[in-house]
Amino acid sequence: MRRVRLGNLSAVLAVLCVLFAAGCATKHGVTAYTPAMEQAATTMQQAMDHIGAKQGDTNLLVLTNAPSVQMGGQPALPYMDVAMQVTGCTLGTRSLLAIQSGPTEALWFSLYNRDNGQLGYMVSGKSGFKVQYVDASPQTVLTSKGWSHAAKGIIAPNMFRTVGISLVWAASPPWNTLKAIQLHNHICPGLSAGIAVSEYIMKNLPPAPGEKVVFVGAPPFCAMDAYQMFFDATSGKKGSFSMLVGNEVLKEHGYKNSPACIYLRVNPKKDTCKGAILTFDFDKAAGLAGLTYADLSPKGGPSNPMFYISRVKIARVLAGLSTKRKMGLVAVDKTFEGNAELAQFIENANADPYGFAR
Ligand SMILES: [Zn+2]
Repeated sequence: MRRVRLGNLSAVLAVLCVLFAAGCATKHGVTAYTPAMEQAATTMQQAMDHIGAKQGDTNLLVLTNAPSVQMGGQPALPYMDVAMQVTGCTLGTRSLLAIQSGPTEALWFSLYNRDNGQLGYMVSGKSGFKVQYVDASPQTVLTSKGWSHAAKGIIAPNMFRTVGISLVWAASPPWNTLKAIQLHNHICPGLSAGIAVSEYIMKNLPPAPGEKVVFVGAPPFCAMDAYQMFFDATSGKKGSFSMLVGNEVLKEHGYKNSPACIYLRVNPKKDTCKGAILTFDFDKAAGLAGLTYADLSPKGGPSNPMFYISRVKIARVLAGLSTKRKMGLVAVDKTFEGNAELAQFIENANADPYGFAR
């Protein structure tokens, strides 16, 4: 490799700065593009052409983890603007979604054309952005052969996320569903259950003014992220509690599957606590997708494409379901009332939060 002497380096940097400033002022309005952003924009445009999408296309969805990660040692947030400017997709039109991810993940984008099911996945690496194209039309990707074929390339670690979210988005779910997905970073039957239960609560058991909402997941599963998002019931504000309750405890209380949650409305001023244990019918939900609950645990686990396909199929059906049918999957198993202290008792129960009703 050619070595650059220190004296020359400052000259090179100065030239780069001038070029960079010129590029910013003339080509991209307010957003200052770095060379890496330029490359991202070019790759994204190529991906758009490849999947047959045009800027501003209403059938185009862009997913990215840009707000969560770094690029070249800097926050990758400005890449949101690159995606917006190249594709015409925006948050306001629900066509540009920021997917939560760990801080050490590589920056990635997924472009999905709802019209033809084609998906372009680009991820940053040492030598710039690499792209893979996937046939994500449901009739192809939701088969063992189609899934395995697509999951072979660079998309592999993000296949479930990007394909699952894209197919659910294509069913035009309510905004809150997409909001929960952004936090949870994938869509799955567990999160779908949490979304359905949240909608049920808003319709049938909404909190009254002055009531604090608390959710207990015992045991916790993906649904917890939906509650936190829908009701601003974050664990940091003591709005959500996760308790690692075992199967034997559930069995003792007559539950075949984990209840969806214990839902509490606490009014400290009035010294009241109104509670409900809610359940979600996973068997019925799987049936709506032409599956059984056992299909979620196929032979070989995650190495079997059916592991992911069954999850996407169920989530997709639930996302497109009418509110009335969705509410039919949620049930109130038990309601109870007490003074505000009851909430503290349940929150501190740890081993068996269902035991209070004995
Ligand atoms: Zn999940």
